[in-house]
Amino acid sequence: MRQGMDIAAAAAEIKAGRLVAFPTETVYGLGADATSGVGVARVYEAKARPQFNPLITHVASADEAFNLGDFSQDAKALAHRFWPGPLTIVVPRAASCPVAMLASAGLSSIALRVPAHEVALELIRASGVPLVAPSANPSGRISPTRAEHVRGYFPQLTVLDGGACAVGVESTVVSFLDGTARLLRPGGLSREALGIALGESNSEILHAPGGLLSHYAPNAAVRLNATHVEPGEALLAFGPHVPAHSGPMRNLSPSGDLAEAAACLFENLHALDAEKVARIAVMPIPLHGLGEAIHDRLTRAAAPR
Ligand code: AMP
Ligand code: MG
Repeated sequence: MRQGMDIAAAAAEIKAGRLVAFPTETVYGLGADATSGVGVARVYEAKARPQFNPLITHVASADEAFNLGDFSQDAKALAHRFWPGPLTIVVPRAASCPVAMLASAGLSSIALRVPAHEVALELIRASGVPLVAPSANPSGRISPTRAEHVRGYFPQLTVLDGGACAVGVESTVVSFLDGTARLLRPGGLSREALGIALGESNSEILHAPGGLLSHYAPNAAVRLNATHVEPGEALLAFGPHVPAHSGPMRNLSPSGDLAEAAACLFENLHALDAEKVARIAVMPIPLHGLGEAIHDRLTRAAAPR
């Protein structure tokens, strides 16, 4: 099969210390051998990250993750409940952890995830090593949810094409470093779902290290909570009641479904940006469920640059 041959060739690239972009259920990742300091360094170089933020290490099973980090009972329970899936778990690095220190940006902890995408899992297995895989975009730009987005950013890069990402926003990051679960980044698994699994409400979000306020930025400016559209603006709508507008318009979910909106958020930002408008006006998004992650990404897209 062509996909199988593509994966074998991509795994050979990874083993040679080079980068490969691959699909996950959240967004496309820029993958490298997590155990190779040089491989990890090439990821920072390609993304032109202004600083060495810690990266998520992707593995093919919970048992592999349990070898790389020290999981408490609660952390293990979350892993079993939500993996494969859009949840990243931060735990202390295991004593024998072979992942490059650069992937942890010098911290004594490690962020781990099992992605829910067959191509990602096959690539990890074929490579025989865990993979770091931050989103496959230059630092600060809109995350890619299709292979075409990645090719637009990195024309020379090997890209495995898995079609559109089903979840569409990055993983939820939870840390277990001080005996309790802390939400570091809202994402594709809702706070409500996490709280139910943990049997607690988890009302606080602590911010993950290295998170820049301006991120996910289109070339156009972004105006939030728009209830009307101004001249020269494109409209990113949500729900059935859309203000009158004759210019470029996309609706994240005409029925007001937040999962549907998350899945097409970055795709619609890419599409409206391609219209070369000066500004994108975004309608209000409810804050519950996946709305929290959508709101986080849009707030950063709108932040001063
Ligand atoms: P990205 O791979 O760019 O989607 O983002 C990785 C996210 O995981 C960022 O929010 C990081 O700050 C967070 N992260 C990765 N490693 C750690 C760690 N060791 N401790 C806390 N947060 C981490
Ligand atoms: Mg990113």
